[in-house]
Amino acid sequence: MTTTAAATVPVGGPIELGHEHGWMIESRHSTSQGWVVYVRCAGCGARRVDVQESAGAIPVPYSGIVL
Ligand SMILES: [Zn+2]
Repeated sequence: MTTTAAATVPVGGPIELGHEHGWMIESRHSTSQGWVVYVRCAGCGARRVDVQESAGAIPVPYSGIVL
């Protein structure tokens, strides 16, 4: 007896727009809440604003992506 797969499922997650943004820092500014970091995608030019609480902290997206 052989078992056949019911369906062929593509490996990997859903692909949206076929593009993973590659953020580059355009500028950053010190504020009372930490650093506000302006980033831009090198691939498509989309922009986003991140907030970084301290120099070693992981930047958190503050704004949505602006195309
Ligand atoms: Zn992009």
